[in-house]
Amino acid sequence: MSGKGAGSWPEGVEMGYATQLVHAGIDPDEKTGAILTPIYQATTYVQESVDKYLAKGFSYSRTANPTVKALEAKIAQLENGAGACCVCTGMAATVTVMTATLKAGDHCVITDCSYGGTNRAARVMFSDLGITFSFVDFRDPAIVEAAIRPNTKLIFSETPANPTLTLTDLDAVSAIAKAHGILHACDSTFSTPIMVKPIDHGCDLVIQSLTKYYDGHNQTVGGAVISATKELDERMHFYQNIHGNILSPQCSFYVLQATKTMGLRFKQQCATAQKVAEFLETHPKVQTVHYPGLASFPQKELADRQHKGGVHGTMLWFEVAGGTEAGRKLMDSVQRPWSLCENLGATESIITCPAVMTHANMLQEDRLKVGITDGFVRVSCGIEDTDDLLRALKTALDNL
Ligand code: PLP
Repeated sequence: MSGKGAGSWPEGVEMGYATQLVHAGIDPDEKTGAILTPIYQATTYVQESVDKYLAKGFSYSRTANPTVKALEAKIAQLENGAGACCVCTGMAATVTVMTATLKAGDHCVITDCSYGGTNRAARVMFSDLGITFSFVDFRDPAIVEAAIRPNTKLIFSETPANPTLTLTDLDAVSAIAKAHGILHACDSTFSTPIMVKPIDHGCDLVIQSLTKYYDGHNQTVGGAVISATKELDERMHFYQNIHGNILSPQCSFYVLQATKTMGLRFKQQCATAQKVAEFLETHPKVQTVHYPGLASFPQKELADRQHKGGVHGTMLWFEVAGGTEAGRKLMDSVQRPWSLCENLGATESIITCPAVMTHANMLQEDRLKVGITDGFVRVSCGIEDTDDLLRALKTALDNL
C-alpha cells in the first residue's frame, strides 16, 4: 500500500498501530472505489488463456479468495509476520501447524496447560498418528529444554494459557528452540497483537483463534496461522489447500471490519478486567484471584516485561470459598450483563466453567494437575459498563 495521489500511502511513512488496524491489507476496490474489500462470493475465476493461468492470482476459492487474501494481508501486518493463512477455526489453525511440522516418529514439547481442544488434538489424534508429545510446565524454560529429544521438531506454547493464565517467556523459549534447530509455535489468542507479537520474540509460527478478539462480537468462528518466513507461510497455505480448510469470504469480511476496533475493545476490556480482579481480591467469599495485572500474580515480573501497552488481557479466574458447589452456584446465579457460556474476548462479558465446558476433554488428572478444579471460574470481560459488571458479581457473591 504505497504510491502517489489521493487514497495512496505516502511512501516511506510508517503507519501507527491504530491506523494499521483500520487500513492494513485494504485498498479501495479497483473497479468501484468501494472503501471496503467486497465479499468475493465466487467458486472459480475465469482465465484469459491457458498460458495466462493465474495471471490475476486466483483460480479456485478453496486455494485462495480475494476477500480472504485481504484479511490474511491485514493479519500478517498486524502480527509482524511474513504471511498469514486464514482457516475455518482456531482449532483448524492448531491442526494445520501440527500437521505441517510433525510426521510419524517426531516428537513435540507442548505446554501442559492449553485450550482443552489443543490438548485433545495432541493426546488423541496426533498420538494415534505416531507422533509423541511431552506435556510440560512452560513457566520454566529449563523444563522445556530438558524435555527436548533428538527427534523433537516442534515446541508448542500458549501464553497466557487458557484458563490458568500461566505465562511462557517467549524470548527464552524461542532462544532454546533456535539453539536446537526446532520450530517454536505459540498460541497467542489470549494476548492479541495489541499486547504481544510473538514473532518479535523469535517465534516461528503464531496461532490465533479469530473467533476471539479479532472477531470480538460472538458472530463467527475462524483461525489464522501467522508465519515468520515466506517459506513457512507457503507451507501453511499448502496444507490449507490440501485440508480444504479456508475461511469463508463472508466470515473474512466480518473479521476484516471487526479487527478495526480490536485495539479500542481490547484496551477497554483490559481496564475492566483490572477493576474486576481488584474487586474480587477484596470480597470475603473469594479465595483466590489470578490476573496478570495484580501485584499478587505469580509471574508478575514476566507479565510486565512481555505484555506491551501497560495492559494484561481481558481474562481472569477465581475460586470461591465453599469449593465446587459454591463455584457452580455462583456461575448458575450471576445475572446479566454476565452470560454463562463458552467463548471469550467478545463485547459480551462471559463466565465459563472450564471443567465442564472448555476443558472437559482434558483427562481429569491432567486438569487437576495444572489447577483447573471443578469450581474454577473463568471470566472474560466485555465492553459493558464496569459498574454493571461489578454490581452483578457482588450480588452473586454476597448471596453465596
Ligand atoms: N486457542 C485458544 C487459546 C482458545 O481459547 C481456543 C478456543 O477457545 C482455541 C485455540 C480454539 O479456537 P476455536 O474455538 O476458534 O476453534
